[in-house]
Amino acid sequence: MRLILIGPPGVGKGTQARRLAEHFGIPQVATGDMLRDHVRDETELGRQAQAIMAKGKLVPDDIILAMVEARLREPEAAGGFILDGFPRTVPQGVGLTVILERLDVTLDAIVAISVKQDVILTRLAARRTCARCGAIYNLVINPPKTMGVCEACGGTELIQRDDDRPETIKKRFDVYREQTSPLLAYYRPTGMLREVAGEGTVDEIFHNILAALPEKLGQG
Ligand code: AMP
Repeated sequence: MRLILIGPPGVGKGTQARRLAEHFGIPQVATGDMLRDHVRDETELGRQAQAIMAKGKLVPDDIILAMVEARLREPEAAGGFILDGFPRTVPQGVGLTVILERLDVTLDAIVAISVKQDVILTRLAARRTCARCGAIYNLVINPPKTMGVCEACGGTELIQRDDDRPETIKKRFDVYREQTSPLLAYYRPTGMLREVAGEGTVDEIFHNILAALPEKLGQG
């Protein structure tokens, strides 16, 4: 199972990618998480990416493509993967096509999740991430069972991402509209694009995604 999740910031991609990865027993390849790990570990790449991410802009395509190719070559990704937050530009989509050809594998589906912008703004303001394991919560629609405690790892630091501040959110939306949404036109002719409404509970959206997958996969 090789899947791409596309959608604007805050649409629930990360949450759904985690669910799908667990469901299908394949890794979630989230470029935003990988970049945040580099920033935390103060690598050279992390130093380059930090300022760009804080402004809500995109890290250059060549850096991202090299990082993703290395990840997809790891044995863990041999049986499939969920791409979350990548590709984010048409050149990244083209680059991914080349990488997949080199690896001699093909995609199964591209799932585009959409939600009205005002719903997303409310969601992003309430989003919290576990500083230890990266689990994602929403204080309004998906809070942890015990307030302030991560259900996945017991961590007690549930933090707001730097780039979830209102002025950066606006920039990230503009970037999505201008640079990422053209990917839908890139993938539509492949016949693999599935468009799913991202409204409702986390469970409902998850089932909508499973139902939208090609029949042999949706049964999981
Ligand atoms: P995300 O966690 O996917 O919302 O990504 C957070 C930030 O990381 C983005 O706003 C970008 O600055 C950067 N980023 C993540 N994925 C990519 C990508 N595929 N291409 C360029 N920049 C990215």
